[in-house]
Amino acid sequence: MGKLSALTNFVKTRWFAKIKTKEKLTAYQLKMLKRQLAFLKEKSPYFKAMNPQKLSDIPIMDKAVMMENFNALNTVGIDRDKALALAIESERTRDFTPKYGKISVGLSSGTSGHRGLFVISDRERNEWAGTILAKLLPQGHILGHRVAFFLRADNNLYETMNSAALSFSFFDLLKPMEEHFKTLKEFQPTILVAPASVLKEIAKKQEESEFIQPEKIISVAEVLNEADERYIKKAFRKDIIHQVYQCTEGFLGYTCECGKMHLNEDVIYVEKEYVSENRFVPVITDFRRKTQPIIRYRLNDILVESEEKCKCGSPFLAIDKIEGREDDVFLLNGPDGEVKVFADFISRCMVYVEDIENYRVVQLSADEIVIYIDQITDRTKEDTIGEFKRLSGKMNFFLPKISFAPYETTPGKKVKRVERLYKRDQEGLEKV
Ligand SMILES: [Zn+2]
Repeated sequence: MGKLSALTNFVKTRWFAKIKTKEKLTAYQLKMLKRQLAFLKEKSPYFKAMNPQKLSDIPIMDKAVMMENFNALNTVGIDRDKALALAIESERTRDFTPKYGKISVGLSSGTSGHRGLFVISDRERNEWAGTILAKLLPQGHILGHRVAFFLRADNNLYETMNSAALSFSFFDLLKPMEEHFKTLKEFQPTILVAPASVLKEIAKKQEESEFIQPEKIISVAEVLNEADERYIKKAFRKDIIHQVYQCTEGFLGYTCECGKMHLNEDVIYVEKEYVSENRFVPVITDFRRKTQPIIRYRLNDILVESEEKCKCGSPFLAIDKIEGREDDVFLLNGPDGEVKVFADFISRCMVYVEDIENYRVVQLSADEIVIYIDQITDRTKEDTIGEFKRLSGKMNFFLPKISFAPYETTPGKKVKRVERLYKRDQEGLEKV
């Protein structure tokens, strides 16, 4: 039954549900929104009490609001504390099979603030797997793929997707890469899926000796910056490194055949909260999530909108990049007050410095940053400081104190190239 609904969804997404014009998309979204609201007013105590007539009647929600109203929001009577206990137990034992009745329960891996709880039915998960497959399998060649999937071992998504038409091999990020290289060589994936930092390690190995020939390379879970993207492209001789934009809140976007990221507007309705001229924080409404509704849910991401229409002709919103988390935007002091410096500007400072392959830039306080690099020499330090000086002049902020430390990563942990540890609340400044 589960497999069947995944397949039906796959076929629907792939062949029938191709929405070609903006008008058709808008009409479709309106229909789906109406249907979803009607369902929620019947099944979710939270929405029943609110009785919204249209989407804009519903207040914008974030993780804190979602957790606070969890019991009333969900449509199957799940108790938050019981579900949390179950999810924490699964994390502890690394056994993710126990369920809450027929519902899978998981924790979202958010780094800041509240711990998020996510619940999803088998049917929803299969639908979701089907949608992902439909959007990602190369056009004109959809059967017989061998997919190598690098992820932290915290879900059973790969089981959902395993079938005769497709073989899946799961690579646990906590294991050493050398071991993975051997398995990869034997498995010879046609599709390689991994976080950007892991793709880069595989690319390095590929440069030493060409050991795999994947048809399609897909970056997930981490921001793929331009320098890494160029490196991976070159190592694998590809024109496009595909990206999947996905989180516990849903499957949000993917790269089309022209290499542009599109948001999945046939599954989600996107409202944009602008933070600069072309950057926005998405507020999403999912048409399909029934167990735990995602309605006007504000994500903690900054997306850069694309100025031109994509050549592929898709009416789905095209974005130039997923820049990173909103709470990682640097907040620096300037003569006219606080200056927001987006992750992209910080990354650009680093890519101009020769000899640096890997870096992380972390803001520690209002006037202090630490830069982790793999080549600490007088020249790389000087050049890096020079780049930050130039940026501070351009954006009008005081140059913060810059210190350097050796670059290192923890296996299985997401690599964040630009991160702000320094937090600020409405009342004033606070360090964590
Ligand atoms: Zn496109």
